[in-house]
Amino acid sequence: MQFDVLTIFPDLLESPLQESIIRRAREKEQVKIKVTNIRDFATDKHSMTDDRPFGGGEGMVMKPEPLTAALASVKKENKQGRVILLSPQGKQYKQKMAEELSTDDHLILICGRYEGVDERFRARSVDDEISIGDYILTGGELAAMILIDSVTRLLPGVLGCSDSADKDTFSRHLLKHPQYTRPREFEGVEIPEVLLSGDHKRIEEYRFLESVKRTIDRRPDLLQNEWFSKQEVALLKKNKLYNSVRDLQEKQ
Ligand code: SAM
Repeated sequence: MQFDVLTIFPDLLESPLQESIIRRAREKEQVKIKVTNIRDFATDKHSMTDDRPFGGGEGMVMKPEPLTAALASVKKENKQGRVILLSPQGKQYKQKMAEELSTDDHLILICGRYEGVDERFRARSVDDEISIGDYILTGGELAAMILIDSVTRLLPGVLGCSDSADKDTFSRHLLKHPQYTRPREFEGVEIPEVLLSGDHKRIEEYRFLESVKRTIDRRPDLLQNEWFSKQEVALLKKNKLYNSVRDLQEKQ
């Protein structure tokens, strides 16, 4: 898997790409990440990458020529890359999208700045637009980093089995159960006794029920898309959670 990031502020990405899981994944060549400075492709003597908007108004707009030249240089090495513009006007980013992107070979992430990019570049060169949420950032770099982080951890072998992604929040339409570590008692609060039982079936059931309770409490909207197995339905009924789940699913 290869990421190319096009930005006018490459230093913003430097530190997060050199720490922890992403650093290890890069060292093991499970992922390649290259950051390209769009400014290197500016053609005028002041290396301008933005200009005033036609028609007047606030702010500056990113010029199409440096963006197009930077993209062409990245595509020269690999023609197949999927070009993604980070934009508050794009499709909202979700875990399912991270899963889909993790099956691509090459993602080219374009980071906007100021008022965004010239519309002609967007229309001609961008395959997808992704928003990380309904708020406005000063630039696409942090959004690109979120995308790289969330996709990289899904790539084969990147996470050890001890922190595998398939039980995380959103891998189903459920929030993950609460977690505890040592000490057994902290400031007078004991961990739930079942976690010490060594009975894996009971522990799994307890975790499943806690996960459902937490989802009902905090993100009932997620349950609409959740499907429960026969055994899970029986467990929910036994623990008087089934009616709440069904009511929420029917209400939405
Ligand atoms: N004027 C634009 C608008 O109203 O739609 C917002 C531009 S924003 C200040 C500058 C850049 O930050 C955008 O071009 C985009 O690359 C990035 N950006 C801002 N919010 C974002 C979001 N929620 N998701 C992804 N990228 C975002």
